[in-house]
Amino acid sequence: MKIGIVGAGMVGSSAAYALSLLGIVSEIVLVDQNTDLAAAQAADISHAVPFFGACTVRAGDYQELASAAVVILAAGVGQKPGESRLALLSRNAEVFRDVVAKVLAVSPDALLLIASNPVDVMTDVATRLSGLPPHRVIGSGTILDTARFRSLLGHHLGVSPQSVHAYVLGEHGDSEVLVWSSVRIGSVPLQDFAAAIGRPVTEAVRSRIEDDVRNAAYKIINGKGASYYGIGAGLAAIVRSIALDQREVFSVSSLTRTLCGVPEVTASVPRIIGREGIVAEVVPPLERAEELTLAKSATLLKDLSAALKL
Ligand code: ADP
Repeated sequence: MKIGIVGAGMVGSSAAYALSLLGIVSEIVLVDQNTDLAAAQAADISHAVPFFGACTVRAGDYQELASAAVVILAAGVGQKPGESRLALLSRNAEVFRDVVAKVLAVSPDALLLIASNPVDVMTDVATRLSGLPPHRVIGSGTILDTARFRSLLGHHLGVSPQSVHAYVLGEHGDSEVLVWSSVRIGSVPLQDFAAAIGRPVTEAVRSRIEDDVRNAAYKIINGKGASYYGIGAGLAAIVRSIALDQREVFSVSSLTRTLCGVPEVTASVPRIIGREGIVAEVVPPLERAEELTLAKSATLLKDLSAALKL
């Protein structure tokens, strides 16, 4: 299976690196307007591959994305000093206007996997520009926020994050919603399990975890300027579920008919991912307060997308 990645910066190259080591795809093609960067990233990553398996990693132009099963869009521009969020969004939408058309011209059957930020709005933009059915345009959304939530809970409880079932919904950003009410350890509700093992999830623990999930990216950016390994691994996991038709559940962003009463909004909820893209939504039961905060998050995203002229 061939995978294309447009945008060979930190996020695109991290996805390529993670994917190349997973050993599930045969070819990765990196495309970037900075062709020297794409070539250098491809060479660097391809030198890691022989230690674990065999996957061709190379730079190419759009023509070489022909017959790619998935194309990851990680291209974008950085925020200029003093630039508003909407102005940045408009410039990134321009990048997508260019990129999405070029990708679809050579690879009309590819699934689009969106990583550029702000990811929910960029997923909405890609869906609108491409005209593809929404189940074929998937944004990385809150996949990483969810992974952080599960990891922090797992750490507190002494359980593998993979056995912690917990989700972050809504915007990948400040308005995201940690759904505490439906957290399960195995099949046991969080508070029951925590009480049974003598590690209660007190208000203090809960607010520490909330804070860590919400501010993880800010802390990483303060320390090293950008965050990319986590999302690179998340993107690779989504591609694996597509490539192997694993039908794993991930909290990813996609245009949905209605979310908490907000119509036609692109935001994250847990979704089953398989060969054809999104197979189904698996929205957990929500308490009233969670429903209200999720509706607020969805409204914010809807308004932002509506303000963006395409
Ligand atoms: P991130 O940390 O999100 O990966 P980077 O700035 O490292 O951000 O990477 C973004 C990449 O997107 C850059 O390598 C840039 O050259 C690329 N890019 C920007 N605009 C376009 C475009 N129109 N076509 C292709 N690549 C683009």
